[in-house]
Amino acid sequence: MARPFNFSAGPAAMPSEVLQQAADEMLDWHGSGMSVMEMSHRGKEFGEIMESAQGDLRELLAIPENFHILFMQGGGLAENAIVPLNLSRGGPVDFVVTGSWSQKSIKEAARYAKATLAASNANSNHTTLPAPGSWQLSADAHYVHICSNETIHGIEFHELPDLKALGSNAPLVIDFSSHVASRTVDWSRVGLAFGGAQKNLGPAGLTLVVVRDDLLGHALPACPSAFDYKTVAANGSMYNTPPTFSIYMAGLTFQWLKRQTEGALSGVAAMEQRNIAKASLLYDFIDDSALYVNKVALDCRSRMNVPFFLRDEALNDAFLAGAKAAGLLQLKGHKSVGGMRASIYNAMPLEGVQALVNYMRDFEKTRA
Ligand SMILES: *Cc1c(COP(=O)(O)O)cnc(C)c1O
Repeated sequence: MARPFNFSAGPAAMPSEVLQQAADEMLDWHGSGMSVMEMSHRGKEFGEIMESAQGDLRELLAIPENFHILFMQGGGLAENAIVPLNLSRGGPVDFVVTGSWSQKSIKEAARYAKATLAASNANSNHTTLPAPGSWQLSADAHYVHICSNETIHGIEFHELPDLKALGSNAPLVIDFSSHVASRTVDWSRVGLAFGGAQKNLGPAGLTLVVVRDDLLGHALPACPSAFDYKTVAANGSMYNTPPTFSIYMAGLTFQWLKRQTEGALSGVAAMEQRNIAKASLLYDFIDDSALYVNKVALDCRSRMNVPFFLRDEALNDAFLAGAKAAGLLQLKGHKSVGGMRASIYNAMPLEGVQALVNYMRDFEKTRA
């Protein structure tokens, strides 16, 4: 059954194969007589699901052995508090604010730590990235936070900053919610990465934290035990009941990712090539058109979230209605930015982006 192409920013489209497999296993997982939702998280069956999910993710993202993979709850927004509770020691922490998400992060961290603005792109209305060489880093910061892909403004770091080269020993914290597993990660530059699962990994309810060993064990006394990374790690992400069904769905997505190939590449490296091709197709079309415009600087355009505007905003409703009728769903932009946004995560095939471009071209012709 062909389904429409879904451009939602999140919760977002998942691979049909994954949804189908979950449907097939819904009432009876692998002959256990139980749905995954009905299993004890301490049982042998769920133990297998958990272990393969963590192992597959470590392999896919090439996560080094000195990093823990934590499956938590609370979403990206809860991590805005949980990270300072665990890492700040109440002292100074630096933020680079490049859009709505990092703005939320600094605001929340300020409740627990001395949060300092190291750089901002507010003067370009969040359409550029401040060069790392210009960041005003505190000498004694306990970490430096960036949002490596700003989902709403469509800005992405195509290279993570090398804090050591900037004279800082602070660990880099990245909110990679909306581009995790879309590209490889240079873990030598990262201390902690977090992300909600609902953009690129699975359904909502699961929050991924990847944290370097030496950053555990410094939580503030006020940190809830269930959110103390050391406690979560020591208990294999089972200090309390984890979001079992979301972990299972993410695990199926990891297996799907491992099966993906592009030429000699597989897994995340294959996805990265596909994501580059998808993003270029859409940006090239937008840049060549007279009706559509994307305002983000060329060197930091997101491969995952493509905000764009119709030069004649009076056409917005007709554009969206026509898109829906053509099987192209959830293209409306975020209310804070307006216009349109096409989120083209891993589960969006090249054919989906081609279908969108075809629709946009036809729409432009009929309105010209
Ligand atoms: C979606 C998103 C979040 C918010 O995650 P929740 O799970 O809703 O808390 C945080 N950061 C980024 C970059 C996101 O895209």
